[in-house]
Amino acid sequence: MTLIEHWIDGRNHPGAGGRTGPVFDPARGVQQHEVALASDDEIAAAVAAAKAAFPGWRDTSIARRSTVLFAFRELLNARKDELAAVLTSEHGKVLSDAAGEITRGLEVVEFATGFPHLLKGDFTENASTGVDVYSLRQPLGVVGIISPFNFPAMVPLWFFPIAIAAGNTVVLKPSEKDPSAANWMAALFKEAGLPDGVFNVLHGDKQAVDGLLTHPDVKSISFVGSTPIAQYIYETASKHGKRVQALGGAKNHMLVLPDADLDLTADAAVNAGFGSAGERCMAISVVVAVEPVADDLIAKITERMATLKVGDGRRSCDMGPLITREHRDKVASYIDKATEDGADVVVDGRGIEVDGEADGFWLGPTLIDKVPTTSHVYTDEIFGPVLSVVRVATYEDGVALINSSQYGNGTAIFTNDGGAARRFQNEVEVGMIGINVPIPVPVSYYSFGGWKNSLFGDAKAYGPDAFHFFTRQKAVTSRWLDPSHGGINLGFPQNR
Ligand code: NAD
Repeated sequence: MTLIEHWIDGRNHPGAGGRTGPVFDPARGVQQHEVALASDDEIAAAVAAAKAAFPGWRDTSIARRSTVLFAFRELLNARKDELAAVLTSEHGKVLSDAAGEITRGLEVVEFATGFPHLLKGDFTENASTGVDVYSLRQPLGVVGIISPFNFPAMVPLWFFPIAIAAGNTVVLKPSEKDPSAANWMAALFKEAGLPDGVFNVLHGDKQAVDGLLTHPDVKSISFVGSTPIAQYIYETASKHGKRVQALGGAKNHMLVLPDADLDLTADAAVNAGFGSAGERCMAISVVVAVEPVADDLIAKITERMATLKVGDGRRSCDMGPLITREHRDKVASYIDKATEDGADVVVDGRGIEVDGEADGFWLGPTLIDKVPTTSHVYTDEIFGPVLSVVRVATYEDGVALINSSQYGNGTAIFTNDGGAARRFQNEVEVGMIGINVPIPVPVSYYSFGGWKNSLFGDAKAYGPDAFHFFTRQKAVTSRWLDPSHGGINLGFPQNR
């Protein structure tokens, strides 16, 4: 069994601690690799490598940094099929979905290539007589990135291209469940000309995370994962003086008004509910049907669900397995819970026929109607192919329900009424909104992030927020003396 090693200072580093974790092939239900789990020594080595590389990279010209970034973009684009195969093998998502994830990540690399413009400061000539004032944006130093299992390429790509473009050096701690993509991207960046030590990959679990959160040489933490961990990350890293952005979990509602085009809406609900087996932070997990729309909509959704082919993502299937057996069992347990809580299980995904090995971590698309909003099926982030329907009487009831959620990541409204959609975008307390668009992940030049317990910190991922997050501003007040200087004056400086 191969050992997935850390990537420190531009090369593989096996780790001396000896701790490892299993990496599965979820479609076959077997372990395929071991991943090294960092001990304190490897944490120190990764941060030290990034720290040592920082002065050189910070002072590398913008022209040279641009060349490396463009080369990385070209290589990634040319070899994305290779990376998609890595994603499918460890995550389980179907190949086309893996390719889509990489394309969205590439968009961030393309946005990052605009860094010379985005890092420009301001300049004011003659703010006071003979005095100029200008601002600089400078990198932070070593930045830590901690990512989840569900987008092993895209989520790291939300952060590291921008952090590196801005002159920082990086320690990425990817999910230990599907760690290979991170090494693959780090090796590719080296091939593109990135100096050793600028981008390091540290594999591990809580020990590695805590090591980064508390290390004095790590200046910022960018985290994406579940809400309880995001909250812990935010509090711990802030306490240790770091700049933090911690993106958390979600429960995304789709509000369907009676005038909506139900065919379009049913397509969208199925795509957004079951794509990537529901393991997306922007998945739709609750359809909020404003009556009398529910019966017709459920019939259309059910019809479409019957056509979905579940199986090994390397074959031509629509939906793959879940990430681990434990997660599959946990998600499946919500189907029993739904029945206990008085909901109607319309489609039960357990026992579905699959195009794949029997031992894979399978759970078919599941639809549950009349879910009580007090049930854990409604309140918990299930993170699997389970779509709930909640029926409400009015638009106002629907918005009140969405706004009562602890999460505020994404939401969508389906309607043909422009006025209702406009009112919704104003009233709903959610960070990313779709209008007849079910998964409204913003393009790379807008920033990504939710509200409430879906984001701790005030900087979103990628887009303009990212350049602010990964740099510090300096204001310089400068005066080049002419021979007729004004002599000594102990008063507070005033502009004249
Ligand atoms: P997770 O919170 O279990 O893990 C995320 C990262 O935290 C991993 O690198 C993991 O090793 C580390 N970690 C896990 N337990 C830890 C602990 N006790 N202490 C310190 N670190 C720990 O999340 P996951 O299961 O990998 O990913 C799914 C979650 O991520 C879902 O909740 C999903 O909504 C969320 N997510 C959110 C976004 C977003 O943009 N808001 C995007 C993708 C995923």
